[in-house]
Amino acid sequence: MALPTPPIPPIKEPEVKCTQIFINNEFVNSVSGKTFPTTNPSTGAKIVDVQEGDKADVDKAVAAARKALEFGSSWQKMDASGRGRLLQKLADLLQRDIAYIASLDVLDNGKPYKEAFFVDAGSCVNILRYYAGAADKICGKTIPIDGAYFCYTRHEPVGVCGQIIPWNFPVPMLIWKLAPALACGNTVVMKPAEQTPLSALYIASLVKEAGFPPGVVNIVPGYGPTAGAAIASHPDIDKVAFTGSTEIGRVVMTLAAQSNLKRVSLELGGKSPNVVFADADLDYAVEMSHMALFFNMGQCCAAGSRTYVQEDIYDEFVKRSVARARARKVGNPLDDSTESGPQIDETQFNKILSMVESGVKEGAKLQCGGKRHGDKGFFIQPTVFSDVTEDMLIGREEIFGPVQCIFKFKTMEEAIEKANKSQYGLAASIFSKDLDKVMTFTGRVKAGTVWVNCYNWLTAQTPFGGFKQSGFGRELGEYALHEYTEVKTVTMQTTSKI
Ligand code: ADP
Repeated sequence: MALPTPPIPPIKEPEVKCTQIFINNEFVNSVSGKTFPTTNPSTGAKIVDVQEGDKADVDKAVAAARKALEFGSSWQKMDASGRGRLLQKLADLLQRDIAYIASLDVLDNGKPYKEAFFVDAGSCVNILRYYAGAADKICGKTIPIDGAYFCYTRHEPVGVCGQIIPWNFPVPMLIWKLAPALACGNTVVMKPAEQTPLSALYIASLVKEAGFPPGVVNIVPGYGPTAGAAIASHPDIDKVAFTGSTEIGRVVMTLAAQSNLKRVSLELGGKSPNVVFADADLDYAVEMSHMALFFNMGQCCAAGSRTYVQEDIYDEFVKRSVARARARKVGNPLDDSTESGPQIDETQFNKILSMVESGVKEGAKLQCGGKRHGDKGFFIQPTVFSDVTEDMLIGREEIFGPVQCIFKFKTMEEAIEKANKSQYGLAASIFSKDLDKVMTFTGRVKAGTVWVNCYNWLTAQTPFGGFKQSGFGRELGEYALHEYTEVKTVTMQTTSKI
């Protein structure tokens, strides 16, 4: 079944159907009776109240997830191909409801509908199908060991997996974690971000409809320091997978270490260098560098947030980038022509504007933007700074907003040195037609993903994750399966060497 191609179905204001905690294939209220509001960032108005999970609800979800794994349970007994069929079914259901799910994220997250449809929900149909196909291809090895022994490895599920995700890509973050975990036969307790719980809770209803046994997937909306911390520190969770800030990644890892040394994988912040050499196609490089930063309102951990431009083309590059940013259409995410919606919430909105202020104070040249766009919601004008250096706050810290920072460099050596001068190492890119330059840069830059003459190109098959303080472990592709299996070595004595 192929994904729809444009024109996509017109967006309808979605009726919110799922606002409760999902445990054991049932929607239930929180133990505490508490709820929390989720708001529409385009207007700042409340959408709906959602049941607020905390430790007591996480305990219930973990108990359900543990029971679903027990020896003899339907999930434990299920053939690997059976898990694959359930994931295929979930992919079919996601595809059936893609417009509804996308519209929930337009409401809850503020991203433009077309992106919510194709980039978010659409790509996740492919990711579910990829892991559906992978479920019965997770193979160990037979190992030719010394002596009269037969040795093989089994790749077994890790167990109950806690998964904590951010708000910037509500559906992809959920599916990137859920799909490999389920393909490998684990059970899951997932916490969506408090800003964007709605699409996750609706997808929970699809998990049930697809036929996954009760307890295999549990979704507990709630806040980080309560529900999130309860997952990270839970003594009966075997692994925690986290995507979010480096600061909270550190907290999650500490809680994991202090509780039961559960396995940890972290996908954290970035300050990714996007390096444009003078031999690149200038118009193309300007457009791709613009997209590398402004896509999703700059709210991407892999955003090309340090644009390095070789000095020969620097002034022209800045001029064209400013023109492009000025032309960017900011507005209602429901409109077809909108390129940028609002930032996620007031906290992020204020943080971004204060970073802009610090850029001005520290001597970067504000070329355009830098202010609120419109008079309601959390919209910010597309902003470009030139003359940025690595010692400035905006040159070294993640802004996570629509603020392009352009730096100058002269030589390859300088480009590599500057690109690597960061605590982060999530992604990098180079724009050049010179193969030698491309090979030198891709070999020496410290980043988990390097794009050459492209940006943000992530697919079901491409492993994604960080070097340095951008985290560890890989999502997507075959590599993600390693994060959700334990390797068991079985050694059998034989009568003679075979
Ligand atoms: P962001 O800055 O992108 O919001 P965060 O790292 O704050 O990123 O949040 C990412 C996810 O981590 C969210 O689901 C959030 O609720 C959760 N979280 C925040 N604080 C904690 C914590 N102390 N323990 C566990 N999870 C947390």
